[in-house]
Amino acid sequence: MTHEVDNGSTRVFSDDLRDKYRVERDKRLATGDRKYVDLDSGDLARYLDDPYTEFVDREPLYECSDVLVVGAGLGGLMIGAALRSRGVKDIRMVDSAGGVGGTWYWNRYPGISCDCEAHVYVPMLDEVGEVPRYKYAPGPEIQRQAQAIADGYDLSEHILFHTTVVDMVWDAEDRRWVIRTDRGDEFRARFAILANGTIQKPKIPAIPGVDSFQGASFHTSRWDFSVTGGSATEDPTKLADKVVGIIGTGATAIQAVPPLGRSAKELFVFQRTPSAVLPRNNGPVPSEWIESLQTGWQAKRRRDFMLYTNGKPGTQVELDELNPLDDGFTKSLRILVTNPAFASMNEDELAVATQQADLQLMEMARDRIDEIIDDPATAEALKPWFGYLCKRPTFHDEYLPTFNRHNVHLVDTLGRGVESITPRGVMVNGQEYPLDVLIFSTGFENSSTRYTERIGFDVIGIDGISLAEKWAGGLRTLHGMLSAGFPNMCFQATPGFGQAATTWSYTELARRNADIMGALVAFALEREVLEFDVDQEAEDAWVQTILDTRIDFSEYFNACTPGRFNNDGRLDLVPVVNTDFGGGPFAFYRMMDTWERSGYPGLSFVPAPAS
Ligand code: NDP
Repeated sequence: MTHEVDNGSTRVFSDDLRDKYRVERDKRLATGDRKYVDLDSGDLARYLDDPYTEFVDREPLYECSDVLVVGAGLGGLMIGAALRSRGVKDIRMVDSAGGVGGTWYWNRYPGISCDCEAHVYVPMLDEVGEVPRYKYAPGPEIQRQAQAIADGYDLSEHILFHTTVVDMVWDAEDRRWVIRTDRGDEFRARFAILANGTIQKPKIPAIPGVDSFQGASFHTSRWDFSVTGGSATEDPTKLADKVVGIIGTGATAIQAVPPLGRSAKELFVFQRTPSAVLPRNNGPVPSEWIESLQTGWQAKRRRDFMLYTNGKPGTQVELDELNPLDDGFTKSLRILVTNPAFASMNEDELAVATQQADLQLMEMARDRIDEIIDDPATAEALKPWFGYLCKRPTFHDEYLPTFNRHNVHLVDTLGRGVESITPRGVMVNGQEYPLDVLIFSTGFENSSTRYTERIGFDVIGIDGISLAEKWAGGLRTLHGMLSAGFPNMCFQATPGFGQAATTWSYTELARRNADIMGALVAFALEREVLEFDVDQEAEDAWVQTILDTRIDFSEYFNACTPGRFNNDGRLDLVPVVNTDFGGGPFAFYRMMDTWERSGYPGLSFVPAPAS
């Protein structure tokens, strides 16, 4: 059955509903601070091992280069491409994964695909000459695109895989970064760009007995196909005689549960908080549309997507008749953010209308459950009771119907989470569920973990200043990409990193920022600049701009059930200054154009001596 977003909801956000949201949130808050296992040490460090690519020993390298990029995910590759496009030749890249793609390298679970339209999300399609055949591209197609970028921009030969940076120190005399890795390498680079990604470090909840399970177990980002069979695009057929449990019902589980349900003898889905699951309506895009595409098509589509999702209310976009922009994000944000009806409203009217729009989307998610799910108790347990943006919105057509299968069981933990893990299985509400295979779909460390902890090393800048210490009280950057005292260094922005723009398709943000950083480094190399650094006043002024333009969403997120977007209910854990530029991406990138064209005011450049 196809479910379309219904524009005609007349239901009202009542006090009863507000109470219901509060009760559901409080139940989850009452379980106390959420703790996670330290995966860097101990037995469970095996959850971080790379199951996909064999580790090959090599001799340490001692090298000098113009630029070193940490990370060969989409964010790092786009930096590499931006540098190459501007003639930068001497680039070294390192990544702890065994191949390119970052998220799309690590996440290979059955059913994986992008959940934002592929023709918007998958970067550099036009440049590489690819067009996804389906509205939502499967993971391996996105990883192939990452490889195509690496090959097309002559980066592949310059990337060292299974190589993790352990420290990074500024050598003031040589005016270079000295970067050491866990392979014993020492790189000396004039410029360094950190593109470590944002949700890259798997999180395993510190459930009592978590290390005691005797069956096979793994995190979704380290999928063990030797246990399950299948692949990212084929069902895990080795599970036909296995009882499987999956903990978590976030955006990953929404995609992984349908193939597991089709393949496992029995599947138990352990749920703490249900996701809102709206229609995806995946399918092939019209071939006439693909054939009609002209050079530059993707830039226009990405811009249109940004107008729809980040534009002003009522923003009009010229619709493509053959393949209109109508993915879940576009549709829902058209209702919640860029709604034409909002254009003429005053602040009070807008507050009420936005609340109504939020309700409309959540009612649609709840109604859809009643329509699809056969068993009323299961339907009730699957209903999400929170605001639409409290958790990552999800879109899927097979997730909910999976719960009508006789072999699939929803185990509602009533907001408390899994009680404990035993050698045989999982305990919930006093009952043990024996399992052969246990899968953790429990997410990744996020912006509430300090930046240097998340990337796994500190950076030591001018006069021994530590980045961890400098940012301990909150981010201090220029444009979310540079920081005073850390010369010749750029930071690839990521959602939740802060002080740059934010967009609903991460790759748009990464691509734009890569262009800005690539242009800056190429500018410095062309002029034989030995060092550039941010002027303290410029940094202070930008931090003030962030505070001045900040849109305060704390009331909304404090009312939310705990999750990634409110730091598990602890908004106070992240300094307010770690927020994105409140003027929106259009204003941000206009500002960046002017900054670039004016020769980078706020930066000081030390040129090479005339001789
Ligand atoms: P999430 O953090 O979104 O979900 C983790 C899940 O684990 C939640 O359901 C959480 O419950 C549950 N959980 C954690 N601890 C326990 C516990 N002790 N007992 C029971 N349940 C527990 O991680 P995901 O991997 O699903 O998604 C992470 C991000 O990855 C997404 O937000 C999205 O940005 C990205 N993603 C993107 C996709 C794309 O196509 N572009 C596809 C998939 C993911 P609770 O909600 O109660 O905390």
